Amino acid sequence: MDGFMTRAVELAAENVREGGQPFGAVLVKDGEIIAEGVNELHRKYDISGHAELIAIRKAQEALQTHDLSGFTMYASGCPCPMCLTSMYMSGLEDIYYCASIEETAAAGLGASEGIYQDLRKPNEDRKIVMQHMALDKDKENPMKMWQERQKND
Ligand code: ZN
Repeated sequence: MDGFMTRAVELAAENVREGGQPFGAVLVKDGEIIAEGVNELHRKYDISGHAELIAIRKAQEALQTHDLSGFTMYASGCPCPMCLTSMYMSGLEDIYYCASIEETAAAGLGASEGIYQDLRKPNEDRKIVMQHMALDKDKENPMKMWQERQKND
């Protein structure tokens, strides 16, 4: 465990003392902490209030960019699919975690493990089934609008 993970775990422990869940995250670039976050579900009605997402939001706001390539995430617990996807979408490639998904589930926080398992199934077998609904022919097509705009930019 290095200094960044030590900090992530300290944030998680402090969050538990304050009534929250045991998750802290530290976002690092070039050996420097750029942003930190803790799970805020005990403070706000916002399901996206996960430690990693909060650290990502803070860094992107501070740096005015969506691009976090070259950053490293240190998470006190294995990231959930939502946070992992945000890391994919922001270009982040290095992730370290401390508590495994199994340890997290054993502590009574098994949502993440269940979602990872569900995502491995074909769409039609998942708990939430996504259903396609075709665009009416007489409606504006935002995808085509976007393509046109890209051509003209
Ligand atoms: Zn998460």
